[in-house]
Amino acid sequence: MKSRRIALLPGDGIGPEVIREAVRVLRAVAPSLLYEEFSAGAGEYLRSGNPLPPAVFERLREFDAILLGAMGLPNVRWPNGLEMTPQLDLRERLDLYCGLRPVYLYHPLDSPLRDRGAGSIDLLLVRESTEGLFAGRLRPADPASGCVEDTLRITRAGSERVLRAAFRQALRRRKRLTLVDKANVLPSMAFFRRIFFEIASEFPEVQVECLYVDAAALWLVRQPERFDVIVTENMFGDILSDLAAGLVGGMGMAPSADLGDRYAVFQPAHGSAPDIAGRGIANPVAAILSAAMMLEWLGDEPGARAIGNAVRVTLSDPALRTPDLGGRLATSELTDAILRALA
Ligand code: ATP
Repeated sequence: MKSRRIALLPGDGIGPEVIREAVRVLRAVAPSLLYEEFSAGAGEYLRSGNPLPPAVFERLREFDAILLGAMGLPNVRWPNGLEMTPQLDLRERLDLYCGLRPVYLYHPLDSPLRDRGAGSIDLLLVRESTEGLFAGRLRPADPASGCVEDTLRITRAGSERVLRAAFRQALRRRKRLTLVDKANVLPSMAFFRRIFFEIASEFPEVQVECLYVDAAALWLVRQPERFDVIVTENMFGDILSDLAAGLVGGMGMAPSADLGDRYAVFQPAHGSAPDIAGRGIANPVAAILSAAMMLEWLGDEPGARAIGNAVRVTLSDPALRTPDLGGRLATSELTDAILRALA
């Protein structure tokens, strides 16, 4: 693979701890990648007053991909009480409309569900990431007025592009796509569903179904194996991807990619986990799998597959776990095991 340049944004809390491990694995699989590290997040806000300094943001556009750890700390907030979320700013400013969250069960013991075999839960959640209920998040609010409203924004252009991306993902998998919405109550969601069926006519090979979000939550818990690809609005995707991650071992097992037409950010789906930061026990799997998704996006499919296989071989042994999954390994020891499987 030709030398690609990766911007590293380790961020806050366990972010730097898991990004370090992801880079160890990347160096083994794709030694030609070049890295440059930037500071962003709550720690950067405490240093410079801005969690995503403009000079950093502009530099990021020069890179082939961005690998991000985690950002935000619960006790570092804007004056209005909201947390620092530069990762959301990045999605919006780089127009990363397609959030991919794969969910895969590596070992039955990782799931709170009983009797689920390895690989039986294997779904991909596609989250629209530039509009939906997050669209008005930066609008000024006046609590003194006694009423604060948020807006759920669905545009035709924003829907068509993420729906097409979801259908293309379904074509690469088991060719089933579930739209999750609330079209029985919200006009914006009825509009989203109408566009879904228009786009569906372009992909006759894909079998489609629609579920209301409340029913989807139930079916994810009762019968997760029925899902292949799920596509949904921003906030529903935010909630359901945590629920789905919970089915396979929690946030430490959940990778993600935020893709646009030009830029892409790869990051574990978890937050900065300040409760365990600095102790060397964070689960590095989500970050390592996010790095594999980055390789795939960069065109290095063999590299991505090699990491995926090494993680699968490693996690087939339930003793090879960090404490979040009842194991005893340190962050770096689990990575050591994955590197051994790669070798
Ligand atoms: P955010 O809102 O930024 O997504 P959050 O408030 O949902 O973050 P996380 O930081 O993801 O919370 O942490 C939720 C819980 O999961 C915490 O108890 C944390 O320790 C645990 N956790 C998250 N990521 C990991 C990981 N990689 N390894 C082990 N435990 C983790």
